[in-house]
Amino acid sequence: MIFIVMRKRHWQNRKNRKCPDCSKVIYYTRKDSFDRAVGNNTVCKSCAQLDRKLTMETLQKMKKPKSVEHKNKISHSVKKWWDDKRESKWLS
Ligand SMILES: [Zn+2]
Repeated sequence: MIFIVMRKRHWQNRKNRKCPDCSKVIYYTRKDSFDRAVGNNTVCKSCAQLDRKLTMETLQKMKKPKSVEHKNKISHSVKKWWDDKRESKWLS
């Protein structure tokens, strides 16, 4: 009888939900972490790691050409700004 009561209480304290990515059941021992996971629609640990890895790889791939382009844009606009300033100075 005691065993059943304890088991029932244990089950009630535990919450679980399925990972939205791989449908793996994730167990939560804390209600606040469960509520937060539901609110954020978080994936399981392995999916989160995989997602993080993919995001990092994508960032690494995209980082170089994007930053170079951005840099060129900045130097171009700075050069233009200087040209404009010089021109206006000469004219005035
Ligand atoms: Zn998952």
